[in-house]
Amino acid sequence: MKVIIHGGFIGESLTSPETKRAKQDSLGRIAEQAYQFLKTHTALETVVYAVALLEDDELFNAGLGAHIQRDGKVRLSASLMDGKTQKFGGVINLEDVRNPIQVAEKLIKYDDRVLSGEGALAFARENGFDYFDPITTHRKFEYEEKLNLNNRKGTVGCVALDGDGNIAAATSTGGKGFEIPCRVSDSATVAGNFANEFAGISCTGVGEDIVSGALAAKIVTRVTDGFSLQAACDKSFVELKLFDGFAGVIGIASTGEIYHCDSHPTMVWASFDVNLQVFN
Ligand code: ASP
Repeated sequence: MKVIIHGGFIGESLTSPETKRAKQDSLGRIAEQAYQFLKTHTALETVVYAVALLEDDELFNAGLGAHIQRDGKVRLSASLMDGKTQKFGGVINLEDVRNPIQVAEKLIKYDDRVLSGEGALAFARENGFDYFDPITTHRKFEYEEKLNLNNRKGTVGCVALDGDGNIAAATSTGGKGFEIPCRVSDSATVAGNFANEFAGISCTGVGEDIVSGALAAKIVTRVTDGFSLQAACDKSFVELKLFDGFAGVIGIASTGEIYHCDSHPTMVWASFDVNLQVFN
């Protein structure tokens, strides 16, 4: 059993050492909680559990405390993928809910598994997700100062390998901040979140770069074809560099290999695998 989570990149110029430390503390605590949960739950249940905890933590750009789009609205995107069944579920630009990852979890059981905008909101309300305004005072201040042009980091994600050897991945984001309304993030696509029986990957960074690099699906495909997780990530990041892509990933392979890789050294993540490790 293994679990790895991330809290995206920390905006270098805008993040105080205290905020960085707070994010690391939070990641450490949630990684440990997720590992305890994994002992009695599946990988799929665990990635939803961990990502919902991260969404509830306003330090991160997902759920509560997510970035605000150019028109003043928060629109959330989240997805999960079950490596065992290879089913992918997601929501794109969902407004006024607290935990978009839980809406994605519900959707994975349907024939239509990715919903956007109004359709996603109607589905959420029909399934009992109440109105919730995720805008925090801090994000409002950033928005008003238009600082978010510069501070687009902090997406969250989780990959877990359960006791039965199944892998799942989940990712949730408030997007880049100050983007054109309804811009589509990578986080609810197979470029940003992918899992099969061989590996699972959750990405963060500039969504357009992650999509251009087809990053999560590409890394998992390489592992499926025989690469180690590390070799698959490293090769994919060499390719990303060719177009100056900005991204970071966490992943677990069915062999038990656990790995993190990023194009810029300011990503925060934590893993739990007998012992807790918190990085950056
Ligand atoms: N990948 C997210 C997006 O482009 C942002 C992030 O990971 O920080 O919407």
